[in-house]
Amino acid sequence: MAAPLSRAELSAAERSLRSHIAQLASGERFLRGTLSERSSKCGKPNCHCVNGEGHKSLYLVQSHAGKVRQICVPKPLQNPVRQAVAEYQKMRQLIDEVSELQWKRFLKRKA
Ligand SMILES: [Zn+2]
Repeated sequence: MAAPLSRAELSAAERSLRSHIAQLASGERFLRGTLSERSSKCGKPNCHCVNGEGHKSLYLVQSHAGKVRQICVPKPLQNPVRQAVAEYQKMRQLIDEVSELQWKRFLKRKA
């Protein structure tokens, strides 16, 4: 097992990335998945959707334990869920950037 990470050995850029990750992880809701907007016809003969666009709904789609699962997001939760999905993406991107720095360190000195 490697020695624990010392902040002193990190570049200012990496320290800043890691602080941002910690901030998101402790202060934001986050949710992995993609959002899918769908519209469907309800089948009632007199409904406006017969000729129009259909009823819009928002689904959260996620792969989980090797399978795809999805859930319909009710209207009042759509904004918070969009926000949580965006926070997850942001955090994921920051983690990937830190991983890239580690990759380069590994190439240079095998550690
Ligand atoms: Zn309808």
